[in-house]
Amino acid sequence: MKFLLRDDDTCAMTRPEDLEVCYQSIWDQVPICLSVTPFRIPGRATGVPENLIGSKDVLPLAECAALLGFLREQVSRGRFDLALHGYHHNRVTGLPEFVGATDLNRKAVEGRAELERLFGRRIETFVPPNNTLSADGFDAVILAGMNVVNNQTRARLQTGWGRLKSAAETVVAARYALTGRFGAPLAFRIRHFPKYQQAPYFTVGPDSDLENLEAQMQACRSNGDVFVLATHYHAFGRRMRSGQTIGDGVMYLVERAASWPDVQFVDYEGLW
Ligand SMILES: [Zn+2]
Repeated sequence: MKFLLRDDDTCAMTRPEDLEVCYQSIWDQVPICLSVTPFRIPGRATGVPENLIGSKDVLPLAECAALLGFLREQVSRGRFDLALHGYHHNRVTGLPEFVGATDLNRKAVEGRAELERLFGRRIETFVPPNNTLSADGFDAVILAGMNVVNNQTRARLQTGWGRLKSAAETVVAARYALTGRFGAPLAFRIRHFPKYQQAPYFTVGPDSDLENLEAQMQACRSNGDVFVLATHYHAFGRRMRSGQTIGDGVMYLVERAASWPDVQFVDYEGLW
């Protein structure tokens, strides 16, 4: 089983010590796959520092010299890997960015290009803000040449001409739905579509139950090929439904997985 640890929301609001305190005890064994937003607009989302709550200013990652230096150093040591996590990550008319915002084709292409420019490496993965894409948002990400980590089925988001336009993909999706029903659960499989790949994920957050997550991980080990665990560094101190802090939950699951000889901790290159 491949295990990938995904951490969302690194952006101009992140301080190096925020990530350090969460991950320095494991980052030499487990690559931390950061979902990074290049031009963050803070808004009112969880994790926004108090002095920025409600701000509509664009905060470019490129202007954060200390954070950039820190990220580049850890990336070069294999401790961090990077995915694109939206462009502004703001909600538009209450909807996630890649559902409610306009100009998504440009934002996917330019967001990817900006991360590639800042870090001098290829970015091939997109993690949607709020884990949600519209059919157009999905199109934009694929057009920009990236794979996707989320649990939606693109063919199901499309209607009418959209469905006809991607008949080949609909066939592949249907085949996965069938093998999912009769074979390994889709929750543990990478899906290979004609123009992109898609990996599912499990969240460690306030609504999670640690016992249930461990059971899912066990099921994946005997039944699947990939277990992606998604969390937020800024939520590490909050409690899960089952009582433990999110940070403790993440560390427990990583330790548990590390005790199994057949588990391999991977970055995105290793995943795809
Ligand atoms: Zn996010």
